[in-house]
Amino acid sequence: MYVCGLTVQGPPHIGHVRFALAFDVLRRWLIHTGHEVTYVRNVTDVDDKILARSAAAGEPWWAWAYENERAATWAYDVLGTLPPTYEPRATGHVPEMVELIAQLIDRGHAYAVDGDVYFDVRSFPGYGDLSGQKLGELQPAADTETDERKRDPRDFALWKAHKPGEPETASWPTPWGRGRPGWHLECSAMAEKYLGPEFDLHGGGLDLRFPHHENERAQSQAAGHGFARYWLHNAWVTMGGEKMSKSLGNTLLVDEVVQRVRPVELRYYLVAPHYRSMIEFTESALQEAAVAYGRLESFVRRAAERVGADAGKPVLSDAFSTALDDDLATPAAVAAVHEAVTAGNTALAADDEAAVAAALGSVRAMLGVLGLDPLDPHWAAAGGDHRLAGVTDGLVQLALEQRTAARARKDYASADAIRNQLGALGVQVEDTPQGTRWELTT
Ligand SMILES: [Zn+2]
Repeated sequence: MYVCGLTVQGPPHIGHVRFALAFDVLRRWLIHTGHEVTYVRNVTDVDDKILARSAAAGEPWWAWAYENERAATWAYDVLGTLPPTYEPRATGHVPEMVELIAQLIDRGHAYAVDGDVYFDVRSFPGYGDLSGQKLGELQPAADTETDERKRDPRDFALWKAHKPGEPETASWPTPWGRGRPGWHLECSAMAEKYLGPEFDLHGGGLDLRFPHHENERAQSQAAGHGFARYWLHNAWVTMGGEKMSKSLGNTLLVDEVVQRVRPVELRYYLVAPHYRSMIEFTESALQEAAVAYGRLESFVRRAAERVGADAGKPVLSDAFSTALDDDLATPAAVAAVHEAVTAGNTALAADDEAAVAAALGSVRAMLGVLGLDPLDPHWAAAGGDHRLAGVTDGLVQLALEQRTAARARKDYASADAIRNQLGALGVQVEDTPQGTRWELTT
């Protein structure tokens, strides 16, 4: 599988990472059904936005890109996506891109003008097929620069000449002069390097279908490669019916949202709807998802206490398998998990341990395919329930009030005992003119 990764221009919001979860579930399902999966997800670490935003912030573009690449990696990890087999960066594959451009020029599909190199869309008869458009009706994509030097306004850049004012470090030498890659070209070059000239699945967000994927396909097929056999496009997270924008997305940065719900709950929220359906974000729907996941988790924990975590056989229900085989229909698959949990809860109430074990084995296996098994070490390592932080704070405050009360009645022995017991738990208490403070020392 080749999945288009993020352009690392800023920290990701939940709309940015939805694709990673959708294709993580697909990958897990393919593995579960006996396939060997090589999963490539790229990092676009040089582009117009990265250059502009890093310049505005007064930081080197590569430092900006790397900082945001780490933010993206953190978000993918915290949401439990399996690491890619390979995660190539665009800037690490310039020689491969130069080679591909040379091939396209040789074959009459590309031309250089003053250091820029363009793909000649009229030279490729299948252009527009992927997005179901005819070349004659096709308007230039919104991000295509108007340029009289192009043979056709719809021609797109394979390579961009270095412009005055752009950092020298963001350019590489080529036979056509110094410059940097066009976005579309990166994926064609990296897919070929890691997956060969033809591979099975290509995924990405719906907004990538045109022009990005149309152009990737044109480049690779014009170079004589079979390229992707199947294409999948995930829908967006929307707000007010629109694709989540940078400004709207600010409150929905992954690291913000996982303060309000646990990461596993956010994953459930993003994975339960069908990957081709838009998710219209509301806080209440997010909280409802957390409650729905809590119902599944509570059964798994209670059942594991009763019969042991690994007591049941990992058998998927037919409804679950049928659903995922039908274009990865996660809504029906999640419904099948809830059904199994209902049966499991009935078995718990009836003290039917054999039935509890059967339900537990099945529920854990199904949740595992969705990356949502609460007993998976990933979620255990994630630090457990964020609500505990609130409870801890409340309990320490309660103890400190007791201590204040003891001091007020001049019972210093009790006050000191409370302080010492808190200290033994790793809670260090400090009296300041502004009041009593505490912090964790462990
Ligand atoms: Zn791509």
